This record gives sequence, structure tokens and C-alpha cells, in this order.
Amino acid sequence: MFSLLTCALYKLLGAKFNRAVKIFRLGLAGPVWFDAAMAKASLHSIVRYCDRLLRNRQFNDWPESVNGLQVENRGHVTRIAAAVDASLATVRMAVAAEADFLLVHHGLFWDARHPWTGRRYQMLHLLVARNLAVYSSHLPLDAHPRLGNNARICAALGFKRLEPFYCEKEQPIGFKTSARMARDELAARLEALVGAAPVVVPGGAEVCRKIGVVSGGAGDHLRRVADEGVDTYITGEGPHYSYALAEELGLNVFYAGHYATETFGVKALAEHLALKFGVPWQFLDHPTGL
Ligand SMILES: [Zn+2]
Repeated sequence: MFSLLTCALYKLLGAKFNRAVKIFRLGLAGPVWFDAAMAKASLHSIVRYCDRLLRNRQFNDWPESVNGLQVENRGHVTRIAAAVDASLATVRMAVAAEADFLLVHHGLFWDARHPWTGRRYQMLHLLVARNLAVYSSHLPLDAHPRLGNNARICAALGFKRLEPFYCEKEQPIGFKTSARMARDELAARLEALVGAAPVVVPGGAEVCRKIGVVSGGAGDHLRRVADEGVDTYITGEGPHYSYALAEELGLNVFYAGHYATETFGVKALAEHLALKFGVPWQFLDHPTGL
């Protein structure tokens, strides 16, 4: 009953609540989560819900992505933290925020998992000692039609009538749309969205008519992108040779940052989980500038 009330109150406050928590924190020494003492969700329930929502089992991904629960905690979640990358730095930030569930896009296992020494040991020690679960979602969170990186970028840029675009591991993870937007206007919208001017390769027409979006580091398959009929491509980062190739293909390319384009999914999913399970959430910003 009490948690139902908390949940209802949280839903009433909506997205503003998370901001309110942050504002209150400014004048205080430590993090304060005003409803956290009351709200508590089962880790198992959140994991089962996320696995189903993101279709983890049906999704092909690199084995290193290890989509799903990567580190367990003692079984309950009272505070959700979201970050793009799982690392010692973001684990420390999550611990400082007193979170017990860390949601990430890039998980813990992209590089060698052993030995457990040095900073890796420090991270494992913190995870276990501070009861911090880690849940990771890579390609499923790029592709999700409502909460995914690409869906959120498209929505924020005002794109409608989205079509599947750009297959990775035999499934589409991006979206494309028909438009009529000046290249400069698109650059300005992207800058407003990610907070920094994108790198623009003006290889195509000044008016963008078919725009494709794939978050992260997807700039190395421009031929495939052009074959899908887009004249303008938005992604996070790409290799140097892609500049000349984009010119050759007559393609406009916007590199808006690998990190910056992959903040959207974890934020959207964390906010969704917070509303669904009645626990507060916070984004941990640890930008790489890449
Ligand atoms: Zn990525």
C-alpha cells in the first residue's frame, strides 16, 4: 500500500521529479533521494521486465556485449543510475549516488575479464561491497522502437514515419525517414540536441530528403548506408577515410559523437523503469568527448 502510494506520487510528479532531486542535492553535502526510503523494487522483477521489453533473447549481438544482468545485487532496487559506459569511474559515481542498480549501454565485458587486479579489482570490490547491480543493453537498446537511442534521436529531431534502417547482426537497429530539411538546419538541430556542433561531411545535396540515423560508431559502412537510399546519415563517429568516401557517394554525414548519441537510450529506459517500478533514477554523465 505504502509503495503503491509512493508509486502514484512519483507518477504524478513525472519526469520533473528526477530534476527536483538533483536541484535539492545542490545545496547539500550528499545525495538526497526524497522518496527512496519508501520505494523498493525486486531486482528479479526489473531484470525480467527489461529482458522481455528489450527482446534480449531474440537479439543477435557480439558475445562481449552480454546483454542483461551482468552483476547481481542482494535482490532489491531502491535507486536506479544510468550511464553510457560501465567503468570504474561510473561505478564510483553510482556508489556516490547511493544507487543499487546501474543501467548501461556498454557493459563490463568488452575487454578481457581477467585478472581481477588493480582497477578491475577495485571496481569488482565496489560492485560487491556496495551492493550495486549492473544491467547492460547494447544493440537491443539501439534498436528499441520507443526507448532506443535511435528512436529517441529521431523523435527529438522531429522525424516522423520512421522505417527500419541499417542492419547489424542481421537485424535493423536504426531508422530512416523522408524529409525536406536544409543541411544547415539539421546541423543546428543536432547541435542543440547533443550540446556540441557535429562534424559535418557535406558530401551530398544542401537539402536533405532521406535521412538515416544509427547511434554510436557506425561510420564505417557508408556504402551500405547509401545503398539503402539515404542521402544524409547521422551517426556517432567514423573513420577518417569515410570523409572522402562520403564525398564519392554523394552522402551528407553528421558525426554527432559516439557517447552523445548513446545517452538517449539509457536515460529513456531508466526513466521508464522509474515510473514503472516507483523508484527514482539519475543519469551519471561521464562524457568521453568521442
Ligand atoms: Zn556504442
